[in-house]
Amino acid sequence: MDPLPDPTGYTPASRGRRWPLVYFLLAAFDVCAILASVYLNHSLVQIHAESLGAIQRWTARLDRYADLERLAEAVGAPPKDVFDTRDARLETVKLRAARRVFDVAIGEARGELADAPDPGELAVLEPPLRTVLAAMSTVMAEANMTLTYFSIDDPEQAGEHMASTDHAMANVHAAFTALQRAASQNQAKLFARQHELAAAAARVDVGIAFAVVLMIGAAIVYGRKVMHEVARAESERQRHFAEMARAKEAAESATRAKSAFLANVSHEIRTPMNVIIGMTDIALDGELSAEPRDCLQTIRRATLGLLGIVNNILDCSKIEAGKVTLEAVDVSLRGLVEEVVELLAPAAREKGLALEFHVDGALVELVRADPVRLKQVFTNLIDNAIKFTETGGVTVEVTLHDRSATDVRLRVAVRDSGIGIPADRQAAIFESFTQVDDSTTRTYGGTGLGLTICWQVVELMGGRLGVESEVGQGSTFWFEVTLPLADAAHAAPVPLVASA
Ligand code: ADP
Repeated sequence: MDPLPDPTGYTPASRGRRWPLVYFLLAAFDVCAILASVYLNHSLVQIHAESLGAIQRWTARLDRYADLERLAEAVGAPPKDVFDTRDARLETVKLRAARRVFDVAIGEARGELADAPDPGELAVLEPPLRTVLAAMSTVMAEANMTLTYFSIDDPEQAGEHMASTDHAMANVHAAFTALQRAASQNQAKLFARQHELAAAAARVDVGIAFAVVLMIGAAIVYGRKVMHEVARAESERQRHFAEMARAKEAAESATRAKSAFLANVSHEIRTPMNVIIGMTDIALDGELSAEPRDCLQTIRRATLGLLGIVNNILDCSKIEAGKVTLEAVDVSLRGLVEEVVELLAPAAREKGLALEFHVDGALVELVRADPVRLKQVFTNLIDNAIKFTETGGVTVEVTLHDRSATDVRLRVAVRDSGIGIPADRQAAIFESFTQVDDSTTRTYGGTGLGLTICWQVVELMGGRLGVESEVGQGSTFWFEVTLPLADAAHAAPVPLVASA
């Protein structure tokens, strides 16, 4: 079933639903931006650390190459020194020693290069190193020749090879210069690349920071808008509630006015009707021929029926208006049920129906209740059961469900073998002026108020009323109530008679 439109025109603000989505997107973007920024900062630090490592490595490498050049110089010295010392053997020993030291040093330099983290470094520096080695081999060969000729006393040949040694030594220096230039160029290229990377990362970082600031600004602006909308929705809600309260108050006062009107009108109608019944009774007591007596009896019956309807309307309006308060007097439930059954027994007999009642044998005490209202409920239920049953009978059963020192919990069931009530109408019949269907009034009469009154009275007593029924099989109307036990002083045991 569609919900009824709100009379105040209030609709829950669906427009507010997209706010959380926008905030979620903004928050997700901010989180991503912060993560990217952290990552970039981490990269910058890493680039910086790598750059420092590279500077150290390249500085050590250039130092190592400068040392190598000095060691190469030491290899070229003995052939020159021999002309001063004139000791070829000593200089030969010095030459070999210098060469060994140089070989160890250049071996270490090549090893370091082979282990370099960037394989490009090996590709750039290995060729000039090889040139140095080749030039050193020439120096070595010419130095050996110089010392050999010096030892065999051939100063002329020794001098010639000495000049070749110098020439080869110049090539060694040139090879070292090329090596150091290649190293410096490569180092500069490396620094330039790292600088470029760092600059790019810094630019992206600035961009992210800018975007985050922009997003925060947007969130603040949007937040103000949302707050404004929330405040507006809240005042709309307040207005709606105020209107609802006014409408409720108006409806309640209309109901009160209606009930008061009905109560007054019913009261005004009852007075003349009682006069009619009284006058009819007086007339019927006198000498009358058959025809006017018949007429007067019909008037009496009709007036009594009408009075019953008016009484029901009056009861309903009084209960709705909250004007009914229940009495609490000592009552014998057995006596009360007996009384009602006795009253309705002629109607059951007229239809050939059995009317029985059973009161739980354990229920011996008096209870505190409103006998008039309790009788009204019993009467309505038993009356209905007789009215809607054609064959079989009606049974009234009062069962003790529970007992404490102060209360008894009872279940009353009025069972009939009548026409029954369809399952989909069982809830509706407790509403005022409602019957199972339109044909009920035509066939059985009635106004649809009896069960409403029973429901309201049982509810006033703090109990509940219900029905179990099957079409064609009969119905059981039941109610459960908890009633206080009469004061011990008043509680007189009731004789244990089980049925009527
Ligand atoms: P009324 O009997 O005056 O119509 P009630 O409120 O007492 O009003 O009952 C409402 C309707 O419930 C009845 O009209 C009838 O259709 C249905 N009803 C009540 N009691 C019985 C019953 N024992 N068996 C079948 N139908 C019943």
